[in-house]
Amino acid sequence: MAAFDRAESLQRLAEERFDLLVIGGGITGVGVALDAASRGLRTALVEQDDFASGTSSRSSKLVHGGLRYLQQGEVRLVYEALAERQVALRNAPHLVRPLPFLVPILTRDGLVGRRLARALGGALWMYDLTGGLRIGKVHRRVSREAALAHMPTLRAGRLAGAYLYYDAQADDARLTLAVGRTAAVGYGATLANHAVVTGLLDDGGRIRGAVVEADGERLEVRAEAVVNASGVWADEVRALDEAAEPLHLRPAKGIHVTVPWSKVRNDIAAIVPVPRDRRSIFVVPWDGFTYIGTTDTDYDGPLDDPQCTPEDVDYLLDAVNAALTEPLHRSDVVGTWAGLRPLLGDCESERTADLSRRHTVVRSPRGLVTVTGGSSPPTAAWPPTPSTPWSSNSGGAGRAAPGASGSSARPRPPTLPSTSPGGTAARPRSCSLSSTPTPRWPRPSCPACPTCGPRPSTACGGRWPGPLTTS
Ligand SMILES: Cc1cc2nc3c(=O)[nH]c(=O)nc-3n(C[C@H](O)[C@H](O)[C@H](O)COP(=O)(O)OP(=O)(O)OC[C@H]3O[C@@H](n4cnc5c(N)ncnc54)[C@H](O)[C@@H]3O)c2cc1C
Repeated sequence: MAAFDRAESLQRLAEERFDLLVIGGGITGVGVALDAASRGLRTALVEQDDFASGTSSRSSKLVHGGLRYLQQGEVRLVYEALAERQVALRNAPHLVRPLPFLVPILTRDGLVGRRLARALGGALWMYDLTGGLRIGKVHRRVSREAALAHMPTLRAGRLAGAYLYYDAQADDARLTLAVGRTAAVGYGATLANHAVVTGLLDDGGRIRGAVVEADGERLEVRAEAVVNASGVWADEVRALDEAAEPLHLRPAKGIHVTVPWSKVRNDIAAIVPVPRDRRSIFVVPWDGFTYIGTTDTDYDGPLDDPQCTPEDVDYLLDAVNAALTEPLHRSDVVGTWAGLRPLLGDCESERTADLSRRHTVVRSPRGLVTVTGGSSPPTAAWPPTPSTPWSSNSGGAGRAAPGASGSSARPRPPTLPSTSPGGTAARPRSCSLSSTPTPRWPRPSCPACPTCGPRPSTACGGRWPGPLTTS
């Protein structure tokens, strides 16, 4: 397998003409690049910072259908996400693994909310039938003792039993890198990080490439079609296309806190309801730690640097403490991360939690295709369909992809390789996540940061503050 060489990529960006240029190296952008390159299109991708430095390293790290989205009536979204979960489990078993979830049935004043328990059971049947079953297991109800065996810190007095169901977990940053690497090394796409789009090129009223700044140089990258996969920055990129109305993204901030696993002792993930709020939070074991999240609040601060506030942390601790016998304190928090969901604005919904997580594809009058949405599509554009906008728009002949007979042919889904390309450019800055993947989760090389290893970097949002103080 060839190595990944950023200098060579920048040279190719300046000299070659591409069928497709993708803006943004998050999971959406690399997914689009893999789709296009594996169809045989000459594909380029530029990322302003590091690959996965945006929302794609700051998620809850679940590859799931979204049990909650069924409540919102988003059956199709759940169906598609569960189908994608299966593709991810099959294609990247070294990165995506099944994860059982415990849904405790909590009593109020010693009484089991029978209606609630029945509704929960019904929702889980629906989840299974919508595609959850593909994982090979059906949800089931378990006793209070069995629930406590999975999470001994749950308040036994409030516990009437629990449901167990199955979803999956992945290291989001690593998955993004693996998809990007497959596009570059396996299918010849040209990827460059630290390459920011500052303008769009117009040719006869059509967008035909972008102005890219990298290493102090200004490059003109020529492409038949341009896809804007820049997540919460999508409106900024659309503003470069004067003919495009902004999408009016409504960024929603979500934070997570990490505590030592010994404080919670859950051997599987759990979903805990937030008192006095129509939300639940995840409590997820992660290699010696447990992370808890997430919040879901409107955000109008700087997109590049969302922060966890003490109020955010208190919200999560209060929520989880309502279900635990041994309360967690701020001093137990050893790390935090914050991310922004690129949700489309909706004046009707007061709460960002109620906004749809469905992704949206829009094409501007000059042909800029923008893909944005609120849930990771790890293989969103995979297997590719002939209706994928960039395949019909490119018009380029492209190169023959392995297994493809034409640009709209359905090649066999690529299996993400479990070996590292060896190049440095494909790695997040100072992050050990992209070291050679192993069939099991990598143990952090630094006891200080369970996510990034040696130094704080993209995967924890660049902040690894150590124990949180009360300030
Ligand atoms: C708290 C939280 C929890 C979540 N949990 C889950 C979960 O458990 N499961 C799930 O499926 N989804 C989850 N999501 C949603 C998921 O993380 C996002 O939908 C997904 O990561 C978005 O990916 P993206 O590629 O669209 O955006 P991003 O990852 O943000 O990528 C966009 C990229 O574009 C780059 N860019 C921007 N402007 C330019 C420019 N001018 N030039 C070049 N590059 C540019 C940025 O640097 C960035 O890297 C969660 C989201 C949040 C916030």
